[in-house]
Amino acid sequence: MHREHALIAIRTSALTEGTRQFDFTCTAGDFKDPKIEEAGFSGPVRARVTVEKAGGEIALTIETAAECDFTCDICLAPIRRELSGSYRIFYDCSGSEAQGAPGENGDEYRILDRSAVEIDLTEDVRETLLLSVPMKVTCTGNPECRIYTETEEEQEGQEPEGGSSSWKEGLEKLKKKYR
Ligand SMILES: [Zn+2]
Repeated sequence: MHREHALIAIRTSALTEGTRQFDFTCTAGDFKDPKIEEAGFSGPVRARVTVEKAGGEIALTIETAAECDFTCDICLAPIRRELSGSYRIFYDCSGSEAQGAPGENGDEYRILDRSAVEIDLTEDVRETLLLSVPMKVTCTGNPECRIYTETEEEQEGQEPEGGSSSWKEGLEKLKKKYR
């Protein structure tokens, strides 16, 4: 998607050797994306981009923090929770013609065009926000939902595996409940 003016971008001239941090604030509405609204984001969005440049390589870490509205999956009570997400991208800015290849840990690896004036991170921040939304949301401190609160702490983690195991545990409890 082409944008006249990037919402979140870092000028390549600001990319100096070493580590630098860039903080951005915007609102969920700035993304003009129905998916962001459907996910429950409505207020301010904070994004911190940590750039580590070493030689011809740039490691970029995006961290997001934003409040999101949910309804509890069990009792439909409204919940507002701050979500944090993170995403890591590698850029090759050596100007070599090498093809982009996946990083060792499956991180994204991109080639930075020498003539690029800025790195537009709007789309990446948007994705990071969407990835920070947990698969399952249940309220805490509600006796009706108590059966699920034991898996609550797993939902705080960023690992998709944690989400899936808590889902399986929840399923096991359901089976016991209805046996
Ligand atoms: Zn609930």
